[in-house]
Amino acid sequence: MKVDFFRHSLTPEHAAAIAAVLGTPFLTSGDVCKRVEAQLRQFFGTTDALMANSWTNGAVATLLALGIGRDDEVIVPAMTFIATANVVELLGAKPVFVDVDPDTLLMSLDGVANALSRRTRAIIPVHLYGQMYDMIALKAILENRPDVAIVEDCAHCFEGGRDGYAPGAYSDAAIFSFYATKNVTCGEGGAVVTNRSDLGERIRKTRLHGMSVGAADRFKVGQYRHWDMESMGVKANLPDLLAVLLPEQIASIRERLPARQALADRYRTAFAHSPIRMQRLDAGVSSAEHLFPIQVPPAIRDEAIAALNANGVSVAVNYRAVPTLTYYREKYGYTPASFPVAQQWGEGTITLPLFPGLTSEEQGAVIDCVLNVIVPMCPSARWRNGS
Ligand SMILES: *Cc1c(COP(=O)(O)O)cnc(C)c1O
Repeated sequence: MKVDFFRHSLTPEHAAAIAAVLGTPFLTSGDVCKRVEAQLRQFFGTTDALMANSWTNGAVATLLALGIGRDDEVIVPAMTFIATANVVELLGAKPVFVDVDPDTLLMSLDGVANALSRRTRAIIPVHLYGQMYDMIALKAILENRPDVAIVEDCAHCFEGGRDGYAPGAYSDAAIFSFYATKNVTCGEGGAVVTNRSDLGERIRKTRLHGMSVGAADRFKVGQYRHWDMESMGVKANLPDLLAVLLPEQIASIRERLPARQALADRYRTAFAHSPIRMQRLDAGVSSAEHLFPIQVPPAIRDEAIAALNANGVSVAVNYRAVPTLTYYREKYGYTPASFPVAQQWGEGTITLPLFPGLTSEEQGAVIDCVLNVIVPMCPSARWRNGS
C-alpha cells in the first residue's frame, strides 16, 4: 500500500479565500495579515504578534531586533532543524550547541547551565516534535541573567502546551512556522508573538528592510510619506495572498489536535513492547504531535528506510545532529563524540507518516511494516541493553 509522508488538508474554501485576495489591489502584507495578527494575539494571549514569510526570516528579524551579532553567543540544541542554528550563524554570532536528554530529546537543562558564558545573549529552546520545553525550569536557570533573551522555536508546537501554559508565556519572543508540512500551514510563512512592546516595535522594522514604521502603508492612494531607515533589516513580511489560508486553520486547530493524538497513541501502543524507541513525553505536556519519529539501531537505519520505501511507505529523518553536518563540523571542529545523545538519535531515527488525513488502513500498513519487517532486522537483545 502506498502511504504518503504528508498531505495537507486545505479545501476549495481556502482556494476561494485566495481568489478573494487576488481581487484586491496589492496582494502583499495588508488587512489580512493584520487580522491574523489579532487572531494570534488572542490565541496565545500575548500583547503583540507579527506575521513573517517564514520561521527563518522571522527569527532573523527577531535576532536583529535583539541586537545580536558578532562576538555574541546563542545557545541552541544539537537536535533540531538546521534553521535554528543557521539564523545565529547568518548574523555572525556563534551558535553554542547543547546536547539533548536521551528520553525527551529536548535540550538538556544541565547542558544549558554549563553552556552559559559571559557572551551568551540569547537561547533558542526548541519544542521538538511538538513536546514543549520546560520553560519554567529554563527561566529558573536564567534567573540571574536578564541579559539573555529567550526565543522559542515553536515550529513544531502551535497548539501544544505544558503545565497549563502555551508558547509565548515565558519568553521574549516565540516564533512559529507555517511551512508546507507544519500543523498550521500556508505553504511558506511564519509568525512571531511577544509580550515585549519594545521588541515588537523593533521587529516591525527589522522584518521590512529596517524601514521606519508606517512604511508598509506607503502605497496608500493620496497618502505618500517619506520613509527612513535607521537600522538594518531583512525582507520578512508575509503576503496577504498566503496569510488568507490561516484564519480558518487557527480557529480549528484545537479541534483538530485529537486526531493527531489518536494517531500518535496508536503508534505508541503498537510499538510499546518492541525494540523500537520513541520520544518520552513528560507529565504535564500536551504535545502538538507534529512528528512521530522512532529510533532503530543506527546500523540498520538506512536499510530500514529502504524497506519502508519498498513497502510504499514514505518517511523522513528529523534530524541528523546539526553540529555534525559538514558546515558546522568543518567550521567548529565537532566530532561525533561532541554531542553523543543527539548523534546517536540522529543516526537511528526515522519519522513515520502522521497527519490528520492519514487513514486507519494507511497507518495499519505502516505499523505492519515496522513490526514485521523492521523489528526482525533489529538485533533486539543487544540493542535493548544499549550496546
Ligand atoms: C520547519 C522548521 C524551522 C524553519 O521553518 P521555516 O518556516 O521553513 O523557515 C525551524 N525550526 C524547526 C524546528 C523546524 O522544524
